[in-house]
Amino acid sequence: MSKPRVGIFGLTGCAGDQLVILNCEDQLLDVVGALDIRDFLMATSANDTGCRLDVALVEGAVLSRRDEEKLRRIRERSQVLVAIGTCAVWGGVAAMDGDADRAALLQDIYGAAGASYDSTPARALHDVVKVDLNVSGCPIEKEEILKTVAHLLNGDPPVFPDYPVCAECRMRENNCLLVEKGEVCCGPLTAAGCNARCPELRIACLGCRGPASDASIRSALAMFGERGIPRAEIARKLRTFAPVDTQAGATA
Ligand code: SF4
Ligand code: SF4
Repeated sequence: MSKPRVGIFGLTGCAGDQLVILNCEDQLLDVVGALDIRDFLMATSANDTGCRLDVALVEGAVLSRRDEEKLRRIRERSQVLVAIGTCAVWGGVAAMDGDADRAALLQDIYGAAGASYDSTPARALHDVVKVDLNVSGCPIEKEEILKTVAHLLNGDPPVFPDYPVCAECRMRENNCLLVEKGEVCCGPLTAAGCNARCPELRIACLGCRGPASDASIRSALAMFGERGIPRAEIARKLRTFAPVDTQAGATA
């Protein structure tokens, strides 16, 4: 059986997810051996930029018309498109000011030159094209991208945790930063998969993996409310990486 043809691409972002792939070290030769990597600009300048691809892994958010055109071309040539990283899956940090006046932001930062920049409000990949699979994380977890590659080679989609970071945190027997110290820890609303990296180090979760699909927003907000943490503060903190509809759990 021939190896699947793969492309790995970056839109606007920090390139951290592509670096995670390159940093797979012990597994990298196996990955390169199992895949026919045709287009990966971060790794090589000898790319086949026009061939059909079985799988495209795409990092970064759509922040310009150039990003949008690039993403549409990738979609056209790929059978399966995988969004990698929180920017690609949710819009990420760049989408934090999604409702702001773009022209005013460009003027504030770049002055008169800003008006000529190709800059659009940040969008996640699924806002522009059909996405077949999401692998979130800022950056992605090495184990999750390796698992994704293994599952795709096997012909079935990987299953990621839909429960919140709190579940992993409790499995690691941490004392709770929210319950015991009243810290604004976003663990109750954030997708697990990082093995509660930050609370394990006694740092409150910032929500960098995006919302957990199986989170109980209503009870989490009640828990924050009992500790005098306003809903607006939770929403503001979560918005750094991905929007969570904190009104969905409103009790009043
Ligand atoms: S410290 Fe944070 S992640 Fe851990 S249980 Fe408490 S709220 Fe959840
Ligand atoms: S604990 Fe929260 S902020 Fe830290 S890596 Fe996990 S999801 Fe991201």
